[in-house]
Amino acid sequence: MSLLWQARFFTTVNHLRDLPKLQVPEIAFAGRSNAGKSTAINILCNQKRLAFASKTPGRTQHINYFSLGGAHVAQHRKDPTRVDEIRALLVDLPGYGYAEVPGEAKSHWNQLLGTYIQSREQLAGLVMIMDARRSFTDLDVQMLEWFAPTGKPVHCLLTKADKLNRNESTNALRQAHTVLSSYVDGQGERFPFTVQLFSALKRIGIDEADRKILDLLGLAADEVASAQ
Ligand code: GDP
Repeated sequence: MSLLWQARFFTTVNHLRDLPKLQVPEIAFAGRSNAGKSTAINILCNQKRLAFASKTPGRTQHINYFSLGGAHVAQHRKDPTRVDEIRALLVDLPGYGYAEVPGEAKSHWNQLLGTYIQSREQLAGLVMIMDARRSFTDLDVQMLEWFAPTGKPVHCLLTKADKLNRNESTNALRQAHTVLSSYVDGQGERFPFTVQLFSALKRIGIDEADRKILDLLGLAADEVASAQ
């Protein structure tokens, strides 16, 4: 049982000024719409409808927060979460890449997302969700480039890996490695960028992603302790 299974809806934010004031680490999930972000969050948190895919462009501009801690796995989702017991937050960022989003909404997205990922102090790392069949679209690259200067880790999930055969999976992983290792800082050091294959459908890479996320949140040791 993972600590992620304690995830509960916490709040929705539409403006940077409304970001939670809690001083706990947070991990944000970003990805092109339809890449499988909601499905990945739901399977990692072992819940059917924690994150939902919003297919309406106008409704995709907000940031959804989920809390970890302060609720028990068996507790009803509508029971109140004890805010002082929240250990960490998961952040579902708006999906990007909707062709039909008008210019104004796009610039709202740029502003909200760009500022959030570049300046949110308690953000411990970014999980980037990409379809394994077409990773690193222009907007994915833009996210990486916004985030790289923070020096914080990015972990990429190449989703829908069930749609690839063994050879294709190896290639997708290799290509993603190549892109990620092409980022170096002023001293020529690589950024802390990692990547793995993932499939909600075939349950590929779930334990690996779970460990990575808890590790980024500084909660990995707690999970081992609670399992003993
Ligand atoms: P989001 O827009 O990034 O939140 O994407 P969704 O989670 O809504 O997923 C988009 C589509 O991809 C849906 O039809 C999902 O059923 C499908 N999908 C998500 N994850 C997987 C997966 O691991 N394997 C396969 N084959 N399909 C998936």
